[in-house]
Amino acid sequence: MSDCIFCRIAAGEIPAEVVTDDEHFIAFHDLHPLAPVHVLVIPREHVASMAELERLPGETVAGLLPFAARVARESGVENSGYRLVANTGADAGQEVSHLHWHVIGGRPLGGMV
Ligand code: 5GP
Ligand code: ZN
Repeated sequence: MSDCIFCRIAAGEIPAEVVTDDEHFIAFHDLHPLAPVHVLVIPREHVASMAELERLPGETVAGLLPFAARVARESGVENSGYRLVANTGADAGQEVSHLHWHVIGGRPLGGMV
């Protein structure tokens, strides 16, 4: 059994409120949402962060942005706007060492930092 919490969600060992998924990615609601829409997008395959992006198959990397855009559309924020964020490493405050993107929206989000 993996000790990575997002691998365990991907394996169905820990419950998550899944929004949508495909062969490469799973999108699920963040446990502690910062906005009305706060969805996490993770690759099924474990890599720790953007720093290891090149370990993912090119097909997976190519699929990320279309998948995230679909998550935003299905979450109802395509027109109102949203932010796609990947916290990477210590200065960004990355808490979970399984690559993930936050899709955040549903209210004005204010400044970038
Ligand atoms: P990071 O700071 O690493 O970019 O973001 C990690 C995110 O994962 C946080 O927003 C946190 O609320 C979320 N999170 C941590 N553990 C769980 C969990 O077990 N389930 C879900 N759905 N979200 C989690
Ligand atoms: Zn993992």
